[in-house]
Amino acid sequence: MSFLTLAFRPCSRTIARKPFPSGVVAARQLHQTLPCARRNKPVEIPYENPLPPVPDRGEAPDYAFVFDIDGVLVHGSNPLPRAKETLEYLHDNHIPYMLLTNGGGYSEAAQVQQLNQRLRMRAFISEQQFVQSHTPFKEHASSPHLRTVLVLGGVKENVKEVAKGYGFRNVVIPADFLKSFQGVSPFTDKSHYSQFGTKLPKNLPKVDAVLVFNDPRDWALDIQVVVDVLLSEGGQVGTRRRVEDVIRDGHLPVYFSNPDLWWANEYQHARLGQRAFRAALEGVWRSITGGQELKATTIGKPHQPTYEFAEDTLTRWRARKLKQLGAFMDHPELKRVYMVGDNPASDIAGANSYKSPRGTDWVSVLVRTGVFREGDSDGGAKAVVDNVEEAVRWAIEEERDLKA
Ligand SMILES: [Mg+2]
Repeated sequence: MSFLTLAFRPCSRTIARKPFPSGVVAARQLHQTLPCARRNKPVEIPYENPLPPVPDRGEAPDYAFVFDIDGVLVHGSNPLPRAKETLEYLHDNHIPYMLLTNGGGYSEAAQVQQLNQRLRMRAFISEQQFVQSHTPFKEHASSPHLRTVLVLGGVKENVKEVAKGYGFRNVVIPADFLKSFQGVSPFTDKSHYSQFGTKLPKNLPKVDAVLVFNDPRDWALDIQVVVDVLLSEGGQVGTRRRVEDVIRDGHLPVYFSNPDLWWANEYQHARLGQRAFRAALEGVWRSITGGQELKATTIGKPHQPTYEFAEDTLTRWRARKLKQLGAFMDHPELKRVYMVGDNPASDIAGANSYKSPRGTDWVSVLVRTGVFREGDSDGGAKAVVDNVEEAVRWAIEEERDLKA
């Protein structure tokens, strides 16, 4: 029997009272019992069903794993049971993995650091094995067609800093408009949002595209500013065209990074995601244009470009890890990727429909720890299992059968 950690168990903690006054030296101790899940603290308990040892075949594994995060490894800020142990099992057995999430709003470095802390990882997850919804935008940062971009979403002005970190030259956010123009969004709480904005220069910018990095926090402000930009003269801030002219000539490019309508956090029911914001913006645009569709591009799971980006990232990461083992291992091609997710509409649908340019086979595994509920469609998942550890156990057994 091995002793491993499991979160979400009642446990006891010890709180030391302040020393009593008047010469009482010894502190008395008060014992309280709190559910550990609320405090993010794992508890040592016996665990009787460890993952099987991976046989040493003298060569590196020809398979790898891709994990979603919310609903698979964590629920909001709470780690899910067996997530840490499962990732460390893969690390210890030299089985490459990466994380692919439709979340975002912070830099990759910040996200990975937070996840390592939340999971209390012994074998740290690297930034180089992590792709979030807006990471693929990085590839377009130096495009001559994207000199100035309006970016939306996230907390405070974080996404502006993320976009600049990617290399976008001029980045504006809705809070900049709030700071610059009286009455631009009359129902927005200025005392909150304007503190994150920067006054636009007197020579007002010409926006080339709208990029939704993360879920917008103030839909009224963001929809108002996006509509203003889409109805402007070629993105020139402060101008306005006739709606009929915009319909005839087309509007500026709009990109969404996350197509999820729902996502799972610590609340008992799934929460609205970025696609809900898109639906709201589309509805407003239809009302303004007499029924015209907003022409926008969406990346993120389940879309092909995001899976291609993820496969490139995983291939680079795997090559780097295997190089470290290179002295004594052969390096076979990557034949299979197990995509482990909780959302049939994104994780599972994406893995099932993905066409790998390398001919890699993507196998979808659905877990019951997130969005998916019994009775829902499983999206055609190859397997449906209780949690992330069972997903890896199933995949390891599949590999054994394939190689038997
Ligand atoms: Mg998820």
